[in-house]
Amino acid sequence: MSWLHRAKQGVKIQRPAEKKELPEGMWMKCPGCSDIIYRAELDKNLWVCTRCSYHFPISARQYLEILTDPGSFVETYRSITSLDPLDFRDAAEKYRLKLKKTMLRTNLSEAVLTGRARLHGREIVLGVFDFAFLGGSMGSAVGEKIARAGLDALERRVPLVILSRSGGARMHESVLSLMQMAKTSAVLAKLHEASVPFVSIMSNPTTGGVSASFASLGDVILAEPRAQIGFAGPRVIRETINQELPSGFQTAEFVQECGFVDLIVSRENMRAVLHRVLCFLCREAVEAAAEGEVAAREGEASAPAPAEPAPHDIGSRPVEVPGPPSREIGLHGPA
Ligand SMILES: [Zn+2]
Repeated sequence: MSWLHRAKQGVKIQRPAEKKELPEGMWMKCPGCSDIIYRAELDKNLWVCTRCSYHFPISARQYLEILTDPGSFVETYRSITSLDPLDFRDAAEKYRLKLKKTMLRTNLSEAVLTGRARLHGREIVLGVFDFAFLGGSMGSAVGEKIARAGLDALERRVPLVILSRSGGARMHESVLSLMQMAKTSAVLAKLHEASVPFVSIMSNPTTGGVSASFASLGDVILAEPRAQIGFAGPRVIRETINQELPSGFQTAEFVQECGFVDLIVSRENMRAVLHRVLCFLCREAVEAAAEGEVAAREGEASAPAPAEPAPHDIGSRPVEVPGPPSREIGLHGPA
């Protein structure tokens, strides 16, 4: 007698070809609660799990839809791209080739999408990172785009908003990537001097040179729940200091307790909260500019030759930005 004996004859067997296949990608597993969620339901809920509030990663264009008025976004500086000034090659392929492939796959020219837009009718200059483009890493072109977006905000005196989602500086461009930290920070200092608001939004993850430069320099810093925010990764830190790290280390909630983040805002509320923050900051900025003008007028009365122009003139001055000129770091001209 065989081990596998069919006791009842005539049982219908389902052949593999008769199986009903689900369309690919119709269901998704939530990394937060391991639940299987209907994709359309996630899409309707801005890619936030309805059960555990896990924020799924989304593209820069999806963020734009959430944050800006429909049809108001106009992209700027699209022609600025990295040109591989170091002729870098990693274990797999040439950086130049990798860049081209990534551009085709993502339909982006770089890891950050910059442009002008409106939020509840208010003009803003916006930069949104896309992690699909080489991990949202900051190379010379990303730094240049952010610096120019900052100067655009300064010249037009409208708030600057940058949503970061980045692994940090781009290793393929070595020190040129690191120089972008100083370049972007210098432009933000000009915005601060001119009382032009800058709001930084940190999403998962915001680490390395991005978190150590412009992302941490917002007048107000918002973060998505449970976003990883830090400089070096937890494994590197653990192995360096040879100690166990506290639970929740480098989450948005953890760094908020340490004072690095002002508000943790879920994706569904981000637009409304950003609008309220901008209303508050712009009123403050108008008052600060008015005070500056009064002080300048009082200064004129006592001393006829003022050393500094009024805040609204700052945008017309050439801004000295550290780092080599664009042609030396392999950049195309502006859009
Ligand atoms: Zn979940």
